[in-house]
Amino acid sequence: TVTGGATVAVLANGFPYLDATLPVDERVDDLLGRMTLAEKAGQMTQAERANVAGSPGRVASLGLGSVLSGGGSTPTPNTPAGWADMVDGFQTQSLSTRLSIPLLYGVDAVHGHNNLVGATVFPHNIGLGAMRDPGLVERAAHITAAETRTTGPQWSFAPCICVARDLRWGRTYESFGEDPALVVLNETAIDGLQGPARSEVDRPDRVLASVKHFAGDGDTTFGTGSGDYTIDQGVTITSREDFERIDLAPYVPAVRDHRAGTVMPSFSSVDWTEDGTGNPVKMHAQTELVTGWLKGEQEFDGFVISDWEAIKQLPGDYAAQVRASVNAGVDMFMEPNSPDPFVATLMGEVRAGRVPVARVDDAVRRILRQKVELGLFEHPYTDRAGQGSIGSAEHRAVAREAVVKSQVLLRNSGGALPLAKDARIYLAGRAADNIGIQAGGWTVTWQGQPVKDLIPGTTIRAGIGQVAPDAQVTFSEDASAPTDGSDVGVVVVGETPYAEGFGDVDGPGWPWDPSDGGVPREPGKQLTLTPADQAVVDTVCGAIDTCVVLVVAGRPNVVADPDGQVDALVASWLPGSEGAGVADVLFGDAPFTGRLGMTWPRTPEQEPINVGDADYDPELPFGWGLRTDSARERLTDLARELASSRDRDVRRALAEIATAVQQGGWTGSGGAADERTVLRALGRAVDRLAGGDGLTWQQMDTLISVLRDAAQQRVVEAGDDAPPGWAADLADAEHALLVGEYARAAHLLLGVAGHR
Ligand code: BGC
Repeated sequence: TVTGGATVAVLANGFPYLDATLPVDERVDDLLGRMTLAEKAGQMTQAERANVAGSPGRVASLGLGSVLSGGGSTPTPNTPAGWADMVDGFQTQSLSTRLSIPLLYGVDAVHGHNNLVGATVFPHNIGLGAMRDPGLVERAAHITAAETRTTGPQWSFAPCICVARDLRWGRTYESFGEDPALVVLNETAIDGLQGPARSEVDRPDRVLASVKHFAGDGDTTFGTGSGDYTIDQGVTITSREDFERIDLAPYVPAVRDHRAGTVMPSFSSVDWTEDGTGNPVKMHAQTELVTGWLKGEQEFDGFVISDWEAIKQLPGDYAAQVRASVNAGVDMFMEPNSPDPFVATLMGEVRAGRVPVARVDDAVRRILRQKVELGLFEHPYTDRAGQGSIGSAEHRAVAREAVVKSQVLLRNSGGALPLAKDARIYLAGRAADNIGIQAGGWTVTWQGQPVKDLIPGTTIRAGIGQVAPDAQVTFSEDASAPTDGSDVGVVVVGETPYAEGFGDVDGPGWPWDPSDGGVPREPGKQLTLTPADQAVVDTVCGAIDTCVVLVVAGRPNVVADPDGQVDALVASWLPGSEGAGVADVLFGDAPFTGRLGMTWPRTPEQEPINVGDADYDPELPFGWGLRTDSARERLTDLARELASSRDRDVRRALAEIATAVQQGGWTGSGGAADERTVLRALGRAVDRLAGGDGLTWQQMDTLISVLRDAAQQRVVEAGDDAPPGWAADLADAEHALLVGEYARAAHLLLGVAGHR
């Protein structure tokens, strides 16, 4: 470890800002009072590592506040030591400056420390959203923080608390779900990164979080992005009321009470005119929202970091862009390739009186406060002690648990799943044995890569080998091998990785630049399988009686099945490095419990379609997910957990639950009369507990899950005769559960089940 000679020198001067015993604000004010305009402008600037790597002295000469690694911008070697050496090297530069202000290093650790080969790579947020397990989201984020900080970076541009409202958005997979209430449930990711209530953010296993992209990034209108078919970085055309309810809502708990340390504005803009004819202002210049709403009304006390060169999308020349954004309330500027002009321009604007000194002071104060709280003045260099646990079996076990819980069983005709461990399996599809496809975007490279061994871990195929060593597996990626001989077909298909922009490309190249060989898929082809993938499904499912299809993708994808050949359909999302988790549920070592955080459309043309819409008629609603564990066991476990409660309502509810467990007449195992008695007893239990706090959300979720099972079973059995409005009722029930309207949720589910 390098020691900071410069720090020692400044310490000897005894400046108050270096005194760790003083209150944070006192230290910050002392330091601010000593800074020149140039030093302040430097603190407000963030450069990309590649831009300063060749001449690291510029970190010091510009007095940069921060350096980042953009997606895939990794040191050589791309190892824990390689990272720590790089970050510490830049840090030495920062500490050599007059005031020795430490550097803050940022990365997109959005599903694990995903730039580092060997890190534990978790499911992307869309999978975590399907778990309905905020505690596990927090544990995953904590591991991400630990693996990241011990290699140097003290800041992650995560979590994305976007509310994805249109699946054609290429960053849908970075969203926990389409309902703001589901996003809020998973904001435990912030606490996992920073430590609960930020009290532990200075520890060697925590990083500063950045909630993004403020706001409306997931709610832009199709066709308003940077191309006819695009939606990314576009315009959110909506009412102010809906914008508050859907897009701003997740930011309230995220930034209040000194929670998330930083916020990143969105590349998009918002238009509140009804017909979309307004003159929308980009979020990076939205004074009313950034300064007024976020920092004012919500009392956000961290700092606002711009997105990558986002100010260059503002109108006017560079000076106008800088001025508009600083004055709107953005505090630090991600100017990856042009930190020098940014510093110079900002200083010019201040000297000309067009950017108030008070605004600059406010920005710098916010940045310094985070640096103090992170403990960077006391511990500027990387604590490498945790490097041994990067990608450890223990960390991977948590990722595997997340994979298990994120799998959503959409269809399971004839109980095709779970599979027998000695089955003769015909395994096909390009995502079956490809860890790059499994991991998706933001993995080693920015866009991700469909590379079989991109990172260490297990592919789904390898996982099947581990979990069911006695299964006879014939693997044929393109389904060209003969199918006879096999009992069951398992087809794993999905999307070629992408990070931002349009989303789907056939072939190489990235979404915004088709000229290099990537071919954007036409509207209407998005959200369907590629013709080649669909052909593999058709071949295998046409030839083998029992057929299971897994969709490995960043969003729902429509699988064509006109002849009903697909018996079981699973949304696997982008599971990351631990494909074995998929095998765990396939063979019943763990049950399917995940459920949709996003509506599964019948056709791509149905987009946008979301919970709460009028005429909601999707293939499968928000909240859908078949379970393969026993309802009786679930209730028995719940009763055991509650057994010692002294709460009177809980005790009465326990009696109802006990009746249900004893009668055991719920779905599938008894006559309709039994089922009615049991479900009504459970409904009464929910009613009794709804207003109180005798049950945690998770326990209530378990209780209500039995009612959902019954409702889903009825829908499945009824086929085309399913009760009208069932999809809307199921989706509404899910929303009600998320917002704590338990009695309403139970009432809706009992209605669909036919036992209200
Ligand atoms: C993305 C951000 C990301 C940033 C830094 C941008 O292109 O929009 O989400 O944090 O790059 O890599």
